[in-house]
Amino acid sequence: MKDSVSVIGAGTAGLIAAKRLAQLGVETTVYDQKKVLGHPVRASGILSIRGLDGLGIDYGRAVTNTLHGARIHSGGETMEIRAGAPVAKVLDRKLLNDLCHDEAVANGANVMLGSRVAGHALEALSEANIVVGADGAVSEVAKHFRMGDIGRYAVTYKAEYNIRHDDPGLVDLFFDPGVSRGLFAWFCPNAEDILEIGIGVDSKAGNAKASFQKFLSLPRVYSVIGSSRPVSEGASIIPLALRTKIVDNDRGIVLVGDAAGQVKPSTGGGIIYGGNASLMAARSIKNHIEGNASLEEYRKAYMRKYSLDTRLHAFANWIYSRAGEKEFGFALRVLRGLGVGSFLGRYGDMDMPSSILRNLLLGITFA
Ligand SMILES: Cc1cc2nc3c(=O)[nH]c(=O)nc-3n(C[C@H](O)[C@H](O)[C@H](O)COP(=O)(O)OP(=O)(O)OC[C@H]3O[C@@H](n4cnc5c(N)ncnc54)[C@H](O)[C@@H]3O)c2cc1C
Repeated sequence: MKDSVSVIGAGTAGLIAAKRLAQLGVETTVYDQKKVLGHPVRASGILSIRGLDGLGIDYGRAVTNTLHGARIHSGGETMEIRAGAPVAKVLDRKLLNDLCHDEAVANGANVMLGSRVAGHALEALSEANIVVGADGAVSEVAKHFRMGDIGRYAVTYKAEYNIRHDDPGLVDLFFDPGVSRGLFAWFCPNAEDILEIGIGVDSKAGNAKASFQKFLSLPRVYSVIGSSRPVSEGASIIPLALRTKIVDNDRGIVLVGDAAGQVKPSTGGGIIYGGNASLMAARSIKNHIEGNASLEEYRKAYMRKYSLDTRLHAFANWIYSRAGEKEFGFALRVLRGLGVGSFLGRYGDMDMPSSILRNLLLGITFA
């Protein structure tokens, strides 16, 4: 019986899993190909406060801004969703990665940097250890152990500018299928004087950098950046669907985070879903080691918690990926008129949209 764990990948998902495994008394070693963790930063860090608080990370030091809501733009229309209280934090992704590393190590996990694991090395580790594949969207672990597919990806490009946002408490989301089919473009005030501009497109629909350039040339975007030069920029990839297989109980393989496609398909945000999956995976691995319980427990727990919400996020993506800009703009005007922006500001949950349905049902039941 294998009683120790090799985690491949020291992103947030791998490190959250390693910390919890170590807390549960399981011998755990994390391997990452990078020598400097979390660098270069290719992703953003907008995380709901509720979701963050559930991950058990002492994240305060990584916070660079606080958000109250969002503005959604399409077809010349805008709908604002503003909550009465802060709903999300913007985190420095490098610092968040460092904090997760320090917490994993402080709890007893070993972390080996500069260690790429693939092929024979991966096979050898799996013979003696349970393997947690936390190696991101293009997972070597998933490929090596034939863990099924992720049906859909988005490619992204983003850059940071020394620009002050007109409202540092709001993130702007731009839906224009002519520029960003399959996802959207965004302005995020990462900090008081740092504006991040980014774009995501379905990997089959276009090239992220070309789409980014096109977005920058739109008059409303150009009027914001003018002649500013980016202080950092880069491309990346986001899974937009859950991988068809995330557990192989017989071989002792478990996938978490982007490797498992644990993201919200409407936005590509994956830290909260992936982080919670890591906590569930750690518990299931501990039960497996102690009592021979099936690792499938983990998959079942994940599906119980996130299946409905993943479908709702996928449905939102399905709608906006098909709507033309004019139709989307019209829908925004109608929704704004119906007060949907204020409703979402009050009752919305950026991670768990099913809670809005629950609130509505409760409201109807007790009205
Ligand atoms: C542009 C962009 C914006 C985003 N914005 C948000 C957001 O606002 N909020 C949010 O929640 N999410 C966001 N995301 C998604 C989020 O970044 C991911 O869901 C999250 O980083 C996944 O974490 P992970 O640990 O699963 O994978 P990763 O962060 O990709 O970490 C994987 C690690 O595995 C290592 N690795 C890979 N292969 C090997 C190997 N063979 N051997 C050893 N090590 C290996 C890599 O070096 C890496 O360190 C965004 C993503 C992008 C691209």
